[in-house]
Amino acid sequence: MTTNPTIDPNDPALRSWVPGANDPAGDFPIQNLPYGIVEGAVAVRIGERVLPLGEALRAGLFSEELASEEFLAESLDAPFLNLVAELPRSVRALLRSELAGLFAEGSSARARVEPLLRDAADAVAELPFAIGDYTDFYASLHHATNVGSMFRPTNPLLPNWKHVPIGYHGRASSIVVSGTPVVRPCGQTVASDDGPPSFGPSKLLDYELEVGFFVGEGNELGSRIDVREAWRHIFGFCLVNDWSARDVQKWEYQPLGPFLAKNFATTVSAWVVTAEALEPFLVAGPMRGPDDPQTLPYLADPDGRNVDITLEVFISSARMRAEGIAPTLISRGSFKDMFWTPAQMLAHHASNGCNMAAGDLLASGTVSGPEKESRGCLLERTWRGTEPLTLGDGAERRFLQDGDEVLIKGFCEREGRPRIGFGSCSGVVLPAR
Ligand code: MN
Repeated sequence: MTTNPTIDPNDPALRSWVPGANDPAGDFPIQNLPYGIVEGAVAVRIGERVLPLGEALRAGLFSEELASEEFLAESLDAPFLNLVAELPRSVRALLRSELAGLFAEGSSARARVEPLLRDAADAVAELPFAIGDYTDFYASLHHATNVGSMFRPTNPLLPNWKHVPIGYHGRASSIVVSGTPVVRPCGQTVASDDGPPSFGPSKLLDYELEVGFFVGEGNELGSRIDVREAWRHIFGFCLVNDWSARDVQKWEYQPLGPFLAKNFATTVSAWVVTAEALEPFLVAGPMRGPDDPQTLPYLADPDGRNVDITLEVFISSARMRAEGIAPTLISRGSFKDMFWTPAQMLAHHASNGCNMAAGDLLASGTVSGPEKESRGCLLERTWRGTEPLTLGDGAERRFLQDGDEVLIKGFCEREGRPRIGFGSCSGVVLPAR
């Protein structure tokens, strides 16, 4: 057993001996250390390498204090991150600190760590959590206003919107990891507002750029999560694409909200960036204007903070990929522009006594900013298809075509700190079956 010095993994001066970890344009510096699942067990990503944590434990790389923690061994060998998310925060903090110690430049453990590393290019990262429940919010004021104004020009924002974080229960079974192809859904659509409907492949397939977060410590059925404590119940964050069939959605969404228009597939990025790694990138929020209503006390968070994550969406057609044409940037925005914070979404979800569990996924809803270029879905970006975009091969897009790949990227940047990235969240559209 080893006794490792305590290291602050968020120290911006830390550098690593692992290949790629000090690349200023990379996503995975030593200050990130996101968790994922590789070869059916828990792993951590750094630079261009992946370390399986169960193997690291058996190789005696962790301190006696950490290695003797109850449930540590079984949580690191599990095929999902749920048990890791259930570990006490203090144990997770120690794990992260000791990992930073192993990877830090000058680490005496380097010779014992190096043989265990996998090349990230060969290590296929799997679905990170066994997701028990999935809820999708609608927390961007810009998105809600844009979409509302298309369908209700005189009354874009419903009276509840600034009082209650609106959401719907999504489908956990169809959540897939980045890189999984998505089959174009079939469904009921109408040619005019009143029908009659026909059944067939969706013609208005869209993506939604979102940020998701996984619950760590949950709450008992019948109890609540205080909004001031809610951040500490979040294990980590990922990128989310909430694929959406707009023509199906339009016909089915009233009166109970989205159903089959959304639950055919949801893509998540593979590496879960811990809430701790994001703490240097928290910013004041959410911004409420002088005319906005007061937040009800149970949602009022004096520390109310958003995370400044730059988010980008790219599209490449099958032809572009075949001809080596770079993906076309469709939008760029920031998660800091959300009206409701992750803590408010989680506290609201549990405010009726609904029990949240480790590995539950909550997604933000489409992240749209104030500018046209920061609108987070094609519905808004092409304004219902009336303002088509031009891809790198000259082809026009109103909605997604078969063979299109949607690629979402996210990263945090701040002066004087290494950039923290999320890797990518991608999927190719396959023809309807
Ligand atoms: Mn959504």
